[in-house]
Amino acid sequence: MHHFFVKNNDIEGESIRLSGPDRHHAEDVLRLRIGEEVLISDEDGRDYRCSLASSDEESLIFEISERLESDHELPSEVWLFQGLPKSDKMELIIQKATELGVSHIVPVSTKNTVVQLDEKKAARKLRRWQAIAEAAAKQSKRSRIPKVHEPMSFRRAAELAGEFEVSVIPYEDEHGIESLCEAIVGFIPGRRIGVIIGPEGGFDPLEVRYAKSRGVLPVSLGKRILRTETAAIAMLSMVMIRLEISEGVFSEEG
Ligand code: SAM
Repeated sequence: MHHFFVKNNDIEGESIRLSGPDRHHAEDVLRLRIGEEVLISDEDGRDYRCSLASSDEESLIFEISERLESDHELPSEVWLFQGLPKSDKMELIIQKATELGVSHIVPVSTKNTVVQLDEKKAARKLRRWQAIAEAAAKQSKRSRIPKVHEPMSFRRAAELAGEFEVSVIPYEDEHGIESLCEAIVGFIPGRRIGVIIGPEGGFDPLEVRYAKSRGVLPVSLGKRILRTETAAIAMLSMVMIRLEISEGVFSEEG
């Protein structure tokens, strides 16, 4: 079943309007016919099973057949603060982070990031990255599309992550798995969780010290040096599994 995302004000009573590029895609590419069913999600992650009822100049109009119990979202807001990587690795990271349930992705410029984005380039990249998040959300049957934010400085990212109930900074020079185990115990449903990953050049020790002073936990991801994209996927996988175990997703009755 094709999946679309709409704004809350596109929903009026039992009808949902689909306009703009999505309308074009549904009508001219997918060639949806009257009566055909689609899945539509709103901004608050609510899912609706709908059927195409009519159209006007502006929009296709769908009738809601069923309001679905959506359970494709993690029970916590998870933020990935990603040290800007080289080339198009950010696209892979956004795609995988979306599949793993992240809700916010923040590109971060750190001391060792090589990539410098001027305003114009950042705006273009942001549009592409947000489109990748939307495509990955559709593919993974998410009810929400993660928000990709404007690039942020490391300092601002550490301060924001430090305001969350639990945040970690996987640091390549952190040793011993105890810190990671302690952090994982803290990934509890309902808490906002932050993950700060360094770029290829890693973190400057002063950055880690600053993050720690803001309450972000430095953790080791084991004895090997992971690529930045591997570290993001590994850390977010642990967050996802821990949250879904806590939510009883994997237990018999889950
Ligand atoms: N330039 C660093 C070096 O050679 O030691 C490696 C940085 S690594 C490619 C990029 C990021 O992945 C790191 O800043 C960290 O956030 C994360 N990372 C990679 N391996 C890790 C590990 N074993 N423990 C904790 N974090 C790790």
